[in-house]
Amino acid sequence: MDAFPRPPAGPGNLAARSLRQVWHPCTQMKQQAKLPLVALSHGEGPWLVDTDGERYLDAISSWWVNLFGHANPRINAALVDQLGRLEHAMLAGFTHEPVVALAERLSALTGGVLGHAFFASDGASAVEIALKMSFHAWRNQGHDDKREFVCVRHGYHGETLGALAVTDVALFRDAYDPLLRHAHVVASPDARNARDGESGVDVAHRAAAELEALLVRREGRIAAVIVEPLVQCAAGMAMHDPEYLRRVRALCDRHGAHLIADEIAVGCGRTGTFFACEHAGIWPDLLTLSKGISGGYLPLSLVLSRDAIFDAFYDDDTARGFLHSHSYTGNPLACRAALATLDIFADDDVLAVNALRARRLSDALAPLANDPRAKHFRQRGMIWAFDAEVPQAAEAVRAFSLRFYTEARARGVLLRPIGNTVYLMPPYVLDDATIDWLASRTMAAFDATMRDLGSHRHGGTAVKFGKEQAA
Ligand SMILES: *Cc1c(COP(=O)(O)O)cnc(C)c1O
Repeated sequence: MDAFPRPPAGPGNLAARSLRQVWHPCTQMKQQAKLPLVALSHGEGPWLVDTDGERYLDAISSWWVNLFGHANPRINAALVDQLGRLEHAMLAGFTHEPVVALAERLSALTGGVLGHAFFASDGASAVEIALKMSFHAWRNQGHDDKREFVCVRHGYHGETLGALAVTDVALFRDAYDPLLRHAHVVASPDARNARDGESGVDVAHRAAAELEALLVRREGRIAAVIVEPLVQCAAGMAMHDPEYLRRVRALCDRHGAHLIADEIAVGCGRTGTFFACEHAGIWPDLLTLSKGISGGYLPLSLVLSRDAIFDAFYDDDTARGFLHSHSYTGNPLACRAALATLDIFADDDVLAVNALRARRLSDALAPLANDPRAKHFRQRGMIWAFDAEVPQAAEAVRAFSLRFYTEARARGVLLRPIGNTVYLMPPYVLDDATIDWLASRTMAAFDATMRDLGSHRHGGTAVKFGKEQAA
């Protein structure tokens, strides 16, 4: 541990002031101090522009939240209108048009199956709410013993203590493990786990069999199984066959457990359908949404639930109600941003246009699918990923990740690999020319990274920054 060199507050560029006073998320501040921070001036569609006027294509949608570009005129107009009406009011005892309209429209998108919406602001809180609802619904129905949760290997559901308890990502979890109420962790249906001759469906069945064995072993004890439908994003864009979701749905029904679908990352059209569960033709008992739902504008999350769960709380007894409260629940501005986002989906036929965008980007990235240095090239909807063939030592993986980020950034593309997994999760606004440009820059950055790492196999990588790297 080294002391932070505490400079006096005062002048300096934006990046220096930020390092002095802002504690950045998911960041070892000592390492960040050695890397240039991007100080943003503004955003324009898929582009972020820094204070020097350099432009970066936001190819990861700013941590997966931005769907229709930055400073989107239609979402801006909705927010300006809402600002003149009502910025916020408590939702207990009061209601307003944006929160009602959003709940109605999301329910309609599930065909009315998930008919009740509970609002919060961040994804982790939505997960906590879903876990609490599941446990409390069972308790209200006389099943006090159902108090255990099941999650999937390498799954990610957020980083508050409750959400971390169903998260299996060592980097985020290990330091806090002594504080957590442990959940059962079952095999991931990740198609990359296929053994010789196995298909993705076979892997799904194998993973479901492990879940079944657990549900039998803990019969009457499991409140809910939580899954990330189709893509375990934070695990490194681990993709699985929809058959897994059908099997989990059937197992939850047979063994009396709720199914929680965490669609915080994969919802809102990311996998090609509005909800990822639609690929499997199933609905969960509880579904969490956040990230893209506000178009990436404002913190908003929600939990959609079936009537059966809502009804378990509907009673004369106050204590049988769901008394969870949150100051900004149902914030009208966030709800208006979400309504404007849903309007764009409908008005621009976004899912259909995205299918064309996806085909074009897949075609443009096709050389990677045959590149022996890029393993497991995979795509689902508006998510692309591949794993760089680098030594598995933590040091080598970190060197790759940092080097690739730097090479991509020097080429005007914002991409942050997860370990040795490079992924693209662009906003839904790219035209053909930008798609082709993104693909060629991504491949050039990969090429440069692999060449550089190859020539530094011994003695590590001296990471250089700056435009001299630009191709
Ligand atoms: C990002 C994410 C969360 C947590 O959302 P936050 O708003 O960051 O708390 C939960 N689940 C999944 C699947 C996510 O991708």
